[in-house]
Amino acid sequence: MRYKSVLLFGAPGSGKGTQGKILGSIPGFYHSATGDIFRSLDLQSQMGRTVWEYSSKGLLVPDELTINLWRQYIKGMEMINQFHASSDILVLDGLPRNVKQAALLEDTIEVVKVIHLVADPEKMVERLRRRALKENRIDDASDTVIRRRMEVYDRDTAPILRYYPAEKIERVEATMPMIRVLSEIIKIIAPLKEQHDDEKDPHPSEALVSHA
Ligand code: ADP
Repeated sequence: MRYKSVLLFGAPGSGKGTQGKILGSIPGFYHSATGDIFRSLDLQSQMGRTVWEYSSKGLLVPDELTINLWRQYIKGMEMINQFHASSDILVLDGLPRNVKQAALLEDTIEVVKVIHLVADPEKMVERLRRRALKENRIDDASDTVIRRRMEVYDRDTAPILRYYPAEKIERVEATMPMIRVLSEIIKIIAPLKEQHDDEKDPHPSEALVSHA
């Protein structure tokens, strides 16, 4: 079974994490951010140090390592009943980050929508500078690293938009107030959720009656 997934897609600073956290608090959705997983690794471990070497420079962590780590993580979440694979819709934030990762994930996730948070790069850079101060993020701390992340996004990540079929891609203006962005995303994902619930349980009220 492949995990039904919605991708939150956009440049660094476009608000994927902010929106993803809110969406993940809605029952039936599970938010998974590779950046958060990477930042939670122990810097004393080999894995933690390798990831840090790349991310602190604004580079992508190698694909196989990223995908294997994420697969282990999500399996773990399934085992401890945080993520319910058959009923939850996965909200993926920061994954896949290039076409190779998208291809590697084909057997694990079924992408039902790609929500593209569209924003002016200069505004994003401003947001990242502010985030550096608030969240103590090493990869937001220098303009050189921020610029490199923007370049990596343009060169490696943006081509994903041509990998998935055009009808799966929804553009949302990311510079609107946060709550407006959220409302646009909800309009896109609410029908998916209803459809998903219907597929799992086409006659919920009859089931209730028969159990009564
Ligand atoms: P942002 O969306 O602002 O770039 P993230 O928290 O998503 O921040 O990612 C922080 C860093 O973690 C990235 O710059 C990159 O080094 C690493 N990273 C996150 N996701 C991936 C991924 N799927 N593949 C490789 N590296 C990743």
